[in-house]
Amino acid sequence: MNPSPLLRLPVELHWDIIDLLDIQDRARLACASQYFSSIIKPPTHQDFLAAETSPWATSRDLFTCKGCVRFRHLLQFTDDMRKGKRGRNGVGANTRFCIDCGVDQHWFPLGAEVTIMGETYVICRDCRKFTDQVGSKGLCNPCSPISRSVRKKRPKPNTGNNQYDSEDDWAYSTRSCAGGKHSEEMYGLWPDI
Ligand SMILES: [Zn+2]
Ligand SMILES: [Zn+2]
Repeated sequence: MNPSPLLRLPVELHWDIIDLLDIQDRARLACASQYFSSIIKPPTHQDFLAAETSPWATSRDLFTCKGCVRFRHLLQFTDDMRKGKRGRNGVGANTRFCIDCGVDQHWFPLGAEVTIMGETYVICRDCRKFTDQVGSKGLCNPCSPISRSVRKKRPKPNTGNNQYDSEDDWAYSTRSCAGGKHSEEMYGLWPDI
């Protein structure tokens, strides 16, 4: 089986070609073959930050997370992570982290209230849940004293963290295509360009 004309080029030319590619095209090429995956360096946090101002990323509402070092959709971030200093091109864009990372790494202070698309959430001081069931004084509703004694409100069945555990249908993780595997999955993960 003859290798394709592209693969017959010297590696220096491959590097030249790779240099000309956008981050998303590099990812596709890396996932297309084991060979390219071995010569393409995974994007760094800086690469993602540089790419998040591209029309490709802005039109898809993608932002960089410093924790999981990938693009995530705007709904995976609290509002203050996408605005002002932490907005695209902001001086603090490199400090932005997604909700999952904020919860997992305990980067949100306990008891803090944050907003997502204008809706308030709390990181409960007591049970440490990230939830839209906001109670009083940094507590979630079920942990709030008033709720424990007086109100016996049943929590809604599908609230809080659940929506953030949902799959990232297009999220790009450099780890997921290590070794040139999962190429089909990767194609599936990327939106149409
Ligand atoms: Zn993250
Ligand atoms: Zn709680």
